[in-house]
Amino acid sequence: MTSKIFRSTVFVAVVVLLCSLGIVMGVLYRHFTGVQVQQLKEELSLAVTGTEQYGNAFLENVEADRFRVTWIGTDGTVLFDTQVDQTTMENHADREEIREAFETGFGSAVRTSSTLIEQTYYEAQKLQDGTVLRISTNQESAWALMIDMLWPVILIAVLAIGLSAFLARRMAKRIVEPLNQLDLEQPLKNETYKEISPLLRRIHRQHNQIVQHMDELRRKADQFQQITAHMQEGLVLLDSEGNVLSINAAAKELFEAEDDSIGKNFLMIERSGAMRTAVNDALDKGRGYAKTNRNGRNYQFDLSRIESNGAVIGAVILAFDITERLNAEQLRREFSANVSHELKTPLQGIIGSAELLESGMVKPEDEARFVGHIKKEASRLVSLIEDIIRLSQLDEGVELPKENVDMLELAEDVKAILEASAAEKQVDIVISGKGFRVEGVRGMLHEVVYNLCDNAIKYNVPGGIVTIHAENNRLVVSDTGIGIPAKHKDRIFERFYRVDKSHSKASGGTGLGLSIVKHAVAYHNAEIQLESTPGKGTAITIQF
Ligand code: ADP
Repeated sequence: MTSKIFRSTVFVAVVVLLCSLGIVMGVLYRHFTGVQVQQLKEELSLAVTGTEQYGNAFLENVEADRFRVTWIGTDGTVLFDTQVDQTTMENHADREEIREAFETGFGSAVRTSSTLIEQTYYEAQKLQDGTVLRISTNQESAWALMIDMLWPVILIAVLAIGLSAFLARRMAKRIVEPLNQLDLEQPLKNETYKEISPLLRRIHRQHNQIVQHMDELRRKADQFQQITAHMQEGLVLLDSEGNVLSINAAAKELFEAEDDSIGKNFLMIERSGAMRTAVNDALDKGRGYAKTNRNGRNYQFDLSRIESNGAVIGAVILAFDITERLNAEQLRREFSANVSHELKTPLQGIIGSAELLESGMVKPEDEARFVGHIKKEASRLVSLIEDIIRLSQLDEGVELPKENVDMLELAEDVKAILEASAAEKQVDIVISGKGFRVEGVRGMLHEVVYNLCDNAIKYNVPGGIVTIHAENNRLVVSDTGIGIPAKHKDRIFERFYRVDKSHSKASGGTGLGLSIVKHAVAYHNAEIQLESTPGKGTAITIQF
């Protein structure tokens, strides 16, 4: 700003200076030239009178310091000159002022020297005898005057520049000072030049818009932070150079990234070759994938390129924990294999017995035994299929109607059903506790109590006791049976897992009972606990 004001001031000062100088000089020059010509004319008139009266004698006495007088004969030859020997001078007939004087009686001319420094003014008058008297004087030309004025002009110009610089600095300071003190947070509250009011109004409008945009951005950033912070999946945003723009808590933990990882190249945080390829694939081709195993868990990374207006601006990395999925897949595979095996075994038994009967190799007295075997295997098959159906229903997580179930009543029902098989094994079923009610699926809860009780009878000893205790939202089924060795405790809830396969099969077990219990308990948001001592007995507690 200072330099702009300076330039303008200098320009104005120099232009004004030059113009005024030009005008003043022009006017003065014209004025003095007029005075000079007038004097010249007066001197000429005196000289004419003198010459007409006294001829050469007058001219010889003329003082020739200021003016030069030349007398020219009628043929143009110089008769006398106050400065130069007239015999050396050429004919003057063709000189403009002489020619004019011969023609009209008076003539005048101005001639500039070859150097342009000097100008000569000539005035000529025809005498009565036909000769012409000419008077001339030299004067500095306007150009010479200008050259003379050069130094004063330069001096004044330097002064003007200095003064302009000083003024420019002062003006800029005085103009800028109130501008610097503007409160741009509240533009309309400023009291300053009214010329900048439109600007302040615009700043006010833009300020409001910026505040709104900033609020909006902050809100969106907060939302993004909130959402990503609570995401189970790891989320990393990269710029087009692969530097981290954002990394959520899950990703930080997974990649063991430091707090200052923002701005760092992601491949410095995760150095695996698979990730390098995946990042390059995402940035080059649009998508990238990688898998890794960390601390015993399996992760899958899905990378996608982010584009804006056709330009690649970065990539997003989503990290999923796929351990459960892989485990479930593994379990499903195992389950299918187990189911096939479990179904095949009774079927083979049935086919074997049927073939023997068919071949007539079985003695008539043994036939009933074989048919009984077929029946037993077939009913095992049915209960196996029923259990599988129940489990798959539980797996599908079908929402079933709930009702208020009295657990003590349920225990009584189960006792009534199992009483016969308990008696067969010489086991007593005892029900105790004040009971409680559960908001649940009656069929499922019945299954839970039935399976636990059934196991407590199956794996009991003659003379043993099964107790169903229901109180304080807690159901405990305990027995005085064979117990479960510690190493099997964690596994008996797995599908088809049995501690003693032959014992389980002999007592009609499918190996799915406790799996169904586990699922049904989880369905009711309850917890299951197992305590068992081999040779002493087992207690399974369900806390609703
Ligand atoms: P199964 O049909 O074989 O009984 P479960 O899933 O009900 O299958 O039980 C799994 C295994 O857990 C059984 O095979 C048995 O070895 C063991 N088990 C279950 N309940 C008891 C119990 N009350 N006492 C001892 N062992 C038990």
